[in-house]
Amino acid sequence: MGKSARQWIALAKEGKSDDECWEVPPTPSGGVRSSLYMGKDLHVYRHVLTMIGCDVPSGLVVMHSCDNRHCCNPRHLSIGTQSENILDASNKGRLPKETRSHPGESNPASVLTERDVLYIRQCGLSTVELMDKYHVSKGTINDARAGRTWRNVPWEG
Ligand SMILES: [Zn+2]
Repeated sequence: MGKSARQWIALAKEGKSDDECWEVPPTPSGGVRSSLYMGKDLHVYRHVLTMIGCDVPSGLVVMHSCDNRHCCNPRHLSIGTQSENILDASNKGRLPKETRSHPGESNPASVLTERDVLYIRQCGLSTVELMDKYHVSKGTINDARAGRTWRNVPWEG
């Protein structure tokens, strides 16, 4: 507490070159330091982006190319989608297994994606046509269509 994001960033940047990580000291519990911005508690690296005039659109997340969550060097930051971030973290082995992908897609036997399931439920093609299209069993198609699997996929309409 006490210090503003600006002060934390100035502290992190002190004596560092443009290419080094500007590391903000973690919170006492080891978390990423955050500070209020327009009423919202944002991680300091989010402040860095707003300070250089770069807004993070809602739904998108900040990614660290240096893989150092405490770093707030804008050269090491990029904006991506949540799934890119998860993919990135999972490639780097940073995430526990269960958060690596969506509930349905994490099933190793599943070769369908959420998009496929939505299509299967809406397209009006026959089961045989769909089996041929996706190379999956009759049961897989029927279960997905009936909602016995892929319960996490919203039904449209
Ligand atoms: Zn860095």
